[in-house]
Amino acid sequence: MERNIKYLSLKAVNAPYEEEIKAEITKVVESGRYLQGEAIEQFEQAYAQFIGSKHCISCGNGLDALKLILMGDLALGRLHRGDEVIVPANTYIATIIAISSVGLKPVLADVSPISFQLSGRHIKKHITPKTKAIMLVHLYGRLAYSNDIFAVCKEYKLRLYEDNAQAFGCTVTTSSGGYIHTGNIGHAAAHSFYPSKNLGALGDAGAVTTNDPNLAQAIRALHDYGRTSKDAFGYQGINSRMDEIQAAVLNVKLRHPLVEKNSRILQVKNYLEGIKSGIMKHYNPFLHSVAIDQYVAHIVPFMTPWRDQLKAYLADKGIETLIHYPIPPHKQRCYPEWNSASFPVTELIASHELSLPCNSALTEGEQEYIIEKINQFYTQKGM
Ligand SMILES: *Cc1c(COP(=O)(O)O)cnc(C)c1O
Repeated sequence: MERNIKYLSLKAVNAPYEEEIKAEITKVVESGRYLQGEAIEQFEQAYAQFIGSKHCISCGNGLDALKLILMGDLALGRLHRGDEVIVPANTYIATIIAISSVGLKPVLADVSPISFQLSGRHIKKHITPKTKAIMLVHLYGRLAYSNDIFAVCKEYKLRLYEDNAQAFGCTVTTSSGGYIHTGNIGHAAAHSFYPSKNLGALGDAGAVTTNDPNLAQAIRALHDYGRTSKDAFGYQGINSRMDEIQAAVLNVKLRHPLVEKNSRILQVKNYLEGIKSGIMKHYNPFLHSVAIDQYVAHIVPFMTPWRDQLKAYLADKGIETLIHYPIPPHKQRCYPEWNSASFPVTELIASHELSLPCNSALTEGEQEYIIEKINQFYTQKGM
């Protein structure tokens, strides 16, 4: 039988909600209110409640959410143009663009070869008198926060921001045995509802969450041109609004918030058990070391020195895979100042990473087939 397994079929992922979504979109169409109406109000409340934060400000997309956080702290005088923000070198480029585009200086730090994320030690190496903030990225859907990062923030009085674009539903266990959602750990967090994220809209959408009323107020103004009351503009802001239709879609999906996380975690366990253990142990510290309650498997990074060969082999068997990300930000032409810098772990990830299909629409049979083909590839290699 010819197989055709897509990396992620958005149509299939959204199919269980199709009727509910259509009904809610119809309500918006009939309401005659397409921006800043009831669906947005409901979304902001429901999302803040899910994250556990006091405030949620919806906006146009994840990049804007990141920018709005920084613009907010700039407007409040907590950051100043030229201040340095430490950010992992291994991230999606949007995280870095957000920082440089508002006049702050991104300072890239290489990540741990095990967690693929920053530790307090990695951050400390880059601290200067101009360092004012850390942008954590829960990349691939794995918790990026740790006690030693908290300690560094405290010691140097740094602002802590979260890029939660890939980690909807991820949690951190507290010392009292409870848990906190990512997006509610630092001073503010950015969220993306780009269709392929774990909570995906049917177009662009994003949000900021924070517990800080002053920052929330500034961001609420900044995302609406800087409007501070009906005809008064206290800041030079931007126009970045989530529309009612996207909010309506997200409200439906928020009724079933853990579907994606739960099915993905099961699939990660299947990959860990099914793929030859030597290969998993030797090359996949990320998957091997991740605590399953601190990972929502937005991306399942399978590491192999034969990445391009395996990708082609799987494609030939009808299995689509992706790479996150083949060219790291410091090698991009838009940041020529970093092109000759070296971030060895980030570069190793870029040359070895293969993202395996993992989502609620992938069937058990399809996953078994993927595992079988990966193992076959290694058998042919004599492993
Ligand atoms: C998707 C993503 C963004 C940007 O979100 P958009 O909604 O696409 O603008 C930012 N950071 C990370 C880590 C992402 O994965």
